[in-house]
Amino acid sequence: MPFTLHGIPVSRGIAIGRAYLIAPAALDVDHYLVELSQIEAEIERFRVALKLVEQELDTLRADLAADAPSEMGAFIGVHLMILNDVMLVQETMDLIRTRRFNVEWALTEQLERLTRHFDEVEDEYLRERKADIEQVVERVLKALAGASPTPLHGSCDEMIVVAHDIAPADMLQFKGQTFQGFVTDLGGRTSHTAIVARSLGIPAAVGVQQASALIRQDDLIIVDGDHGVVIVDPAPIVLEEYTYRQSEMALERRKLQRLKFSPTQTLCGSRIQLYANIELPEDAQAALEAGATGVGLFRTEFLFMNHKDQLPEEDEQFEAYKRAAELMNGLPVTIRTIDVGADKPLDSLSGDGYETAANPALGLRAIRWSLSEPQMFLTQLRAILRASAFGNIKILIPMLAHAQQIDQTLDLIREARRQLDDAGLGYDPNIQVGAMIEIPAAALALPMFLRRLDFLSIGTNDLIQYTLAIDRADNAVADLYDPLHPAVLQLIAHTLREAKRAGVPVSVCGEMAGDPQLTRLLLGMGLTEFSMHPSQLLVVKQEILRSQLKALEKPVADVLAAYEPEELQAALGRLAQA
Ligand code: PEP
Ligand code: MG
Repeated sequence: MPFTLHGIPVSRGIAIGRAYLIAPAALDVDHYLVELSQIEAEIERFRVALKLVEQELDTLRADLAADAPSEMGAFIGVHLMILNDVMLVQETMDLIRTRRFNVEWALTEQLERLTRHFDEVEDEYLRERKADIEQVVERVLKALAGASPTPLHGSCDEMIVVAHDIAPADMLQFKGQTFQGFVTDLGGRTSHTAIVARSLGIPAAVGVQQASALIRQDDLIIVDGDHGVVIVDPAPIVLEEYTYRQSEMALERRKLQRLKFSPTQTLCGSRIQLYANIELPEDAQAALEAGATGVGLFRTEFLFMNHKDQLPEEDEQFEAYKRAAELMNGLPVTIRTIDVGADKPLDSLSGDGYETAANPALGLRAIRWSLSEPQMFLTQLRAILRASAFGNIKILIPMLAHAQQIDQTLDLIREARRQLDDAGLGYDPNIQVGAMIEIPAAALALPMFLRRLDFLSIGTNDLIQYTLAIDRADNAVADLYDPLHPAVLQLIAHTLREAKRAGVPVSVCGEMAGDPQLTRLLLGMGLTEFSMHPSQLLVVKQEILRSQLKALEKPVADVLAAYEPEELQAALGRLAQA
């Protein structure tokens, strides 16, 4: 029966496909499609793993102490039965054969299907068997580990990922896969999961409450990423309508491609820089293809994620930064030092307590964490400096608020330079250092920044979060996340004005920069450097090409003077027509 769910739109477009539900555990295993010729080999891999686990359980039973409770033997017996159960073994093999899933994927998928049934069973004893099945699957997965072939990133064309939540690091693993769209139960518009989803350029909705409980595996679903709507099992007429809209949008996108090579300037001839936000060095390629004139934000923390035991070494980081710089071929690459904490925990640091703080977004995050780990920070600074010898690199520091933090950071940069001098390693001696303005305190104490730093970049995602005191990743307060709140607009306008007055370059790299509905507003406030996901670049460029700065002055002044919602809406309406 058709039904509709509502959430928060985070990435534009329409996706139509089959739901692929991901259980949290399933995210830990590789997902790839097996080539047809390799299917029997994949099944054999499964058989070998099953045999290994059977031997393991047999040995366990044989080794049981004579006085071990009888339940222990029975318990192993149950696990052996599960291990040979057709529902587990045969169905998993069917998934490998019919869907070409690799064995780990097929097995976790089948686990999800089986345990769903258990959740519906009333009998408590039977419900508890769920844990037994999970433990057996866990054993088989362990037996498979180490013997996995390299993932082949095949086409998952028809699939839309549906999950309770996806950590940013897991979302990152979807880069290189070709899913059609994403739906999650949790998340806010500028949660980092949403940001990575947006960077994939595919429709996505987050905060779609209960989606993963109400949508079943393989359900046909439509994701309307413009409105945050998910339609499950749509009626034929609805499907037809969305298919039509999807093709219209594809046509629009193709038309936008024509703007790729035109210079970015307003109707009155003012040049505007469009930079890209990237998470991995390879993203620089997409940035260039979209026509970016530089990287305005390289979120380096994503290099640090999925490193289970330790942080990447200096050389590994150096290679990554150098690669981005070389790909951009002389265009500026703004490398932001690590911004972990809050909704971006690091595997290698779990247990350190920083992510268990009551208010992680207010805790040891970003530069605060870097300054508390000077050796780690120095390693990153040396790697960035070394890469600066191979391109046009700038250093950007996240979440600064205090003069001492800026001074300590600049001291550490000097120290990193000294160390490189001693080691005879080269770097750009004129490298620029800038600050993210993303804490209201920073926006209100700009002289402190303007005196000490070479450039500023406004991080609207956090600026909104901290100005309005709402967690950007929490869908329960997502309706309060308002980029157009007068306080937010005042802080942005003030920062742009003061930086301009001091002759210090300033950009906006938060999600507001990539929202075409806000382009005129930002232009009218005096912004000339926008940084956004490459997928947004052309639609923002289109707005810029249609704008005349003079005509924006009055409506933008009206927007900034509006403190009542109706007044604001009216002023925004006039701005859209200007
Ligand atoms: C921001 O806060 O606006 C920003 C660009 O940084 P991040 O989203 O990574 O916190
Ligand atoms: Mg930020």
